[in-house]
Amino acid sequence: MKQRPILSVEDVHHSFGKFAALSGVSLQVPEGRLTALIGPNGAGKTTFYNVVSGRYRPSRGKVRFLGRDVTGLPPHRLCALGLARSFQITNIFERLTVLENVQVPLVVKNRGTFCFWRRLHRDGALEKAALEVLAMVGLEDKARWGVHELPYGDKRLVEMAIVLAGRPQMVLLDEPTAGMNPEETDHMIRLIKSLAETSGTTFFITEHDMKVVFSVADYIYVLHQGRLLAEGTPEEIRADRRVREAYLGG
Ligand code: ADP
Repeated sequence: MKQRPILSVEDVHHSFGKFAALSGVSLQVPEGRLTALIGPNGAGKTTFYNVVSGRYRPSRGKVRFLGRDVTGLPPHRLCALGLARSFQITNIFERLTVLENVQVPLVVKNRGTFCFWRRLHRDGALEKAALEVLAMVGLEDKARWGVHELPYGDKRLVEMAIVLAGRPQMVLLDEPTAGMNPEETDHMIRLIKSLAETSGTTFFITEHDMKVVFSVADYIYVLHQGRLLAEGTPEEIRADRRVREAYLGG
């Protein structure tokens, strides 16, 4: 891999009791690119995501972010270092407006002091900053809507806006189009692609849906039964017989 890795995972193992969900996975995510981890159901994608995002501490192996050993650091510490993960919709405040949901992480990022919040609120800078983030995901027209009024796909966009509000260097997305209808899926694919191309943010996505991955990823790792089965460009992975067999037999 030619670009400098922003994230490097070395020989990671994780077990649930005696069951080894990850058995020695190593991979590198280059800066500014969109890298994906795919694999059939049960391959270990979510477990890997949880290890990298700090939810699980691996029983063996290391996770390095920007050259620093971050193995087992909790999500909020990783976030402060610039490694953000997508939050589940359950973390969105349904009773607040779209705009307010994005203002919350902006305030938290800037230490969350009341004085700071009051000053920003008064001169309109907070609203302006939140609207800029909403424009990145195409939700500026719905800024005043209550989140509870939004369709499911738009709620996932609010989730993305909350992540982007922290201006992370790298974003981990777990199945970003899960549960979406085809139209919402296409919109999310276009959004991820354009964010990856224009914002300089590095994206790492775990995904079950091959169509999504082939449309967005620059480079793909394939996980099967807790081990890496293959890696390569979308064209290489598409042509790989072992990958097809893993999915058909998966
Ligand atoms: P994927 O996301 O690729 O579908 P997972 O990481 O969710 O795969 O699961 C990998 C394997 O680990 C599966 O066999 C699953 O049953 C098992 N597993 C995942 N989470 C747990 C858990 N909390 N306790 C026990 N087994 C688990």
